[in-house]
Amino acid sequence: MFINHSCRGNCETVEDDGRVWIVAKRAIPAGEEITYDYCLWDGGDDPCTCHCRSANCRGSMYSAEELRRRKAAAKNAAARNQKTLKRRGKRRASARISPPPSE
Ligand SMILES: [Zn+2]
Repeated sequence: MFINHSCRGNCETVEDDGRVWIVAKRAIPAGEEITYDYCLWDGGDDPCTCHCRSANCRGSMYSAEELRRRKAAAKNAAARNQKTLKRRGKRRASARISPPPSE
């Protein structure tokens, strides 16, 4: 049995004694799909896009905490890249103004 993700799932997972239980968060009418929030954190580069269409959809199956962590990591990586580009730019500029080697 597979259970799809939803940012506003009607179930949640509970781990007890090494087993994972799917527990209803509310009464679920007959015929309604059972879903829970995957709260992924280890998907690598996969965007794990969510299409659940709930009002509070994050657009991703990653947890809100993981999305914040990834956003901060991307921001830090961009800042590092900017610093690297500035350093390279300064080196190139100094190479242009240095006198040619004497022969
Ligand atoms: Zn969603």
